[in-house]
Amino acid sequence: MRWLTTVFLLSCSLALSITVAVSIRPLELIVKHILPEGHSVVCIMDEGTNPHLYQLKASDLKILNGADLIVLVGFEEWANKVADMFADKTVVFADGVFEKDFEQDEHLWLDPVNVLLFSHKLMLRFSQVEPALAEKFEDNWQDFSKRLLEKLWLWCERMHHLKGKTIVEVHSALILFARRFNIGEIFGLETGHEQGITAKRLAELANLVKKGVARHILIDEHVEGSAALNLAKQFDLEPIFVDLMGWEANDYLELVDSIVEKLASIAKMVK
Ligand SMILES: [Zn+2]
Repeated sequence: MRWLTTVFLLSCSLALSITVAVSIRPLELIVKHILPEGHSVVCIMDEGTNPHLYQLKASDLKILNGADLIVLVGFEEWANKVADMFADKTVVFADGVFEKDFEQDEHLWLDPVNVLLFSHKLMLRFSQVEPALAEKFEDNWQDFSKRLLEKLWLWCERMHHLKGKTIVEVHSALILFARRFNIGEIFGLETGHEQGITAKRLAELANLVKKGVARHILIDEHVEGSAALNLAKQFDLEPIFVDLMGWEANDYLELVDSIVEKLASIAKMVK
């Protein structure tokens, strides 16, 4: 009987469930690749929120407080505050080797190579939180990285017709993505996150349309509203709906897959 109790206690100590709080959906998808079943990921921001502008609620603080680990991109308005408050359990994507990329474009998750590196960092952090599961985390990371790398070459191939082509976006989020896949220039109507669309930028777009360089405009339906659609109409640009936050994706690979397919469809049209 005593032996059974010992076994029971041992198995309890081996299977602590961990809770990871993340700010946005793409981080949730990435974390889920590494975290085994039975552990939880809680996402702070809901569908339809603008991740650059979202303000923390009291209930969010409660979630962050109760989490074993907090994962942020670094572009959240409250990223520094949370990183200071929970210094020993916060991981920020934008830190360390990603700083330079982050300065160029805050949407770090849209470069799969960045995600591959960051997921390794996450795997190591999860192992610190729960050393008994270190092997499982590593297995999951290896599986994820293998699948991601296999996809990477396919994605590259799917979009090779976009080399040198200009891609118009309402909100420029695909700069790192375009650089990684050797796509042409990204023309974002909104340059900063606080500024709106300037008259100068609209005149530049009109010029691109006139020259026949721009025929499509990428719109993220979950973030941008009807104003974006009106713009498309006004400039006679075909709207291409992209899901940059992965609300319709079941995992991170699906998130990138769907963006690649949308862009590949443009590639076909402009070939
Ligand atoms: Zn953005």
